[in-house]
Amino acid sequence: MSDPLRQRRSRIVAVTNQKGGVGKTTTAINLAAALTEHGKRVILVDLDPQGNASTGLGIEPDSRAFTSYDLLIDAVPLASVIQKTAIDGLMICPATTDLSSADMELVSNEKRSFLLHDSLRQPLVDDLDVDYILIDCPPSLNQLTVNAMVAADSVLVPLQAEFFALEGLSQLMLTVREVRQSANPDLRIDGIVLTMYDVRNNLSQQVEADARATLGELVFRTMIPRNVRVSEAPSYAMPVLSYDSSSRGAEAYRALAREFLAHHAVQKKG
Ligand code: ADP
Ligand code: MG
Repeated sequence: MSDPLRQRRSRIVAVTNQKGGVGKTTTAINLAAALTEHGKRVILVDLDPQGNASTGLGIEPDSRAFTSYDLLIDAVPLASVIQKTAIDGLMICPATTDLSSADMELVSNEKRSFLLHDSLRQPLVDDLDVDYILIDCPPSLNQLTVNAMVAADSVLVPLQAEFFALEGLSQLMLTVREVRQSANPDLRIDGIVLTMYDVRNNLSQQVEADARATLGELVFRTMIPRNVRVSEAPSYAMPVLSYDSSSRGAEAYRALAREFLAHHAVQKKG
């Protein structure tokens, strides 16, 4: 039973950037794992038909009984879709390639932007008693991503420290603005996190300087370094925090989680 006095539902965060290979899935997995180290209970919703977050947390395609497709299209309750992972406190709603057809099935109808919202923002989800729901978005501003933004309290944008990194951002911000106007006026931007940062590379430094100059406080102080342990971890079906707990990558994601939690603590007071 829901306790009417209990605090509001979990906070929903869409990890999004329409560019592929910028570190969305890596950030979703490792931020989720780092949040569990603070005792937070987290559900990671894999909303990418490639299912990299599911694979990266050791959920084999054959064992994905229910998936985010069922959550969206058949309104199967989140509680029935989620699976435990090897990380205490971290659950996943897995994805399979079915999800790519969901995107097409959703295109026609405007109401379809609210399917994920309706699945995630309902009292039954409160009963799961989770603190955070992170959504790993596909590399596109498609209907799935719009569903994620409509459902979310905030977006977190991984930005790869490379040339043209900032170009795609205006498109993304435009989509955030459209979602605010049409469906979710309270959608916040949690922040932009620079990923695959290489201190020895002038270009990385230049991208950082540009990002901080144009986006200011929206850019997290924490940057995720390029670190081979981060890229090895998924093939062992683990977050880097488990695979190599003292690696630079693991420490960076812990720092990101601290900064992320501090933002939210301030927002709650404010
Ligand atoms: P996206 O989800 O945006 O497509 P991924 O998180 O899958 O991006 O990352 C793309 C590739 O870059 C993956 O092979 C991943 O292992 C690698 N990668 C991500 N972050 C790092 C990092 N900090 N250091 C090294 N490799 C990284
Ligand atoms: Mg991905």
